[in-house]
Amino acid sequence: MLTWLITAAFLRLYPASTLWPLLAFGVFGFLTLMSRVADARQIEQLMTWLRHPETPLPKRLAPQWMELASHVLRQRRNHKDSLAQSDKRLADFLAALQVSPNGVVLIDADQRIEWFNQTAAEHFGFDARRDAQQHFTNLVRDPVVAAYFAARDFSHSVVFAGRSNTRSPAQRISLQLHLYGQGRSLLLSRDVTAIEQADAMRRDFVANVSHEIRTPLTVLGGFVETLQTLKLSGAEQTRYLDLMAQQASRMQSLVDDLLTLSKLEGSPRPSNHEWLKVETLIRSCVNDGRALSQMIWGSAQHIDIDLDADLNCDIAGSDTELHSALFNLVGNAVRYTPADKSIVVSWSLNAHGQGVLTVTDHGMGIAPEHLPRLTERFYRVDRSRSRETGGTGLGLAIVKHIAQRHDAELQIESTPGKGSSFRLVFGAHRVRVAVEQSAALVEQD
Ligand code: ADP
Repeated sequence: MLTWLITAAFLRLYPASTLWPLLAFGVFGFLTLMSRVADARQIEQLMTWLRHPETPLPKRLAPQWMELASHVLRQRRNHKDSLAQSDKRLADFLAALQVSPNGVVLIDADQRIEWFNQTAAEHFGFDARRDAQQHFTNLVRDPVVAAYFAARDFSHSVVFAGRSNTRSPAQRISLQLHLYGQGRSLLLSRDVTAIEQADAMRRDFVANVSHEIRTPLTVLGGFVETLQTLKLSGAEQTRYLDLMAQQASRMQSLVDDLLTLSKLEGSPRPSNHEWLKVETLIRSCVNDGRALSQMIWGSAQHIDIDLDADLNCDIAGSDTELHSALFNLVGNAVRYTPADKSIVVSWSLNAHGQGVLTVTDHGMGIAPEHLPRLTERFYRVDRSRSRETGGTGLGLAIVKHIAQRHDAELQIESTPGKGSSFRLVFGAHRVRVAVEQSAALVEQD
């Protein structure tokens, strides 16, 4: 009723001609309001979708919101791709650092460990789960490392005793810190045990060589002085000259052995296509051994040859080197075996087709504690016996070297007072039954 009254009053106030624009305006206003409401609802849906990217894109969006949503979708996809790419790059980078032979530790500005690779874990005894985010200096308490960090002079490296106490020789680790970024640092570590050991060996070697040469040189110098200052009889002079010749020959042997070693170290491995006859090699070394025995003992020391009955074998390698190795073994047997005891040089093929060259003596033998060190340069069990018989202390080092170059193994067995057996075991690929013999065997079949 009231509505009708208001409408009638309204129509009386405003004639129909003025009503149409008002109505149009009202409709326009209404439509605008409706569109705003729809927009607001779509914006709300869009916002929910943006906040929860895992939810599906709202359906029935107005074209402008749809365009906006697809733009956001594209951006999201690009962002995800570039994140995946940088993750992959980081993973590749860390994988590369992981396989580095050097230890790598990333340390933040508070000296906390951010990341380390496996090698660093071994050098410092770190545990990947336990030690990340720990202070480096709390974990590595070696005094050398502590002093290095305290001095804050990182222009050089320091060497400290590594964590692995089971290793022999004790592990030596070099570490150096490199600063970068804002207070961050990269710590690199390296196992220098072998380098330090090689340095020590080189120093010992030079000291040993100098000592070995100085001794005969001093003796020689003394004799020269005696000859120059004293009036000696002809017989005395001859004796002195003989002694001088002995010392000169001792120096000569030492220099020869040193040259042999340096040649072995500097030349390529002997080919395994050049074949030589085992029998020729053994016979020639045994003849040289007999001559040496004659020189030292002056009587016939028996050197027997025992070649594997039917086998006539060839061995692949360097004639000179193999001769040198075998002669060193035969020579030692002669020198460390009394004249009345015999020596046997034998050759056989074992069940694996390996060639076994053995020199057995019935001499003084060697105590077990010396066996592991016999092939070290200048290591001697019986120093005076070695010198008396012209030994240099390098013979077995040369034999071992030659054996390695021929894929052979040097095996030593000895019983003090009973004798020794030195065996060279050659890989089957370096041994063959001699060509003529195998042809003959085929014909017999
Ligand atoms: P050396 O020139 O002193 O003989 P080697 O390197 O040939 O040097 O041998 C090292 C040491 O091994 C020798 O000093 C000796 O004490 C011992 N030795 C080598 N061969 C024999 C052997 N057949 N019998 C006993 N001792 C041996």
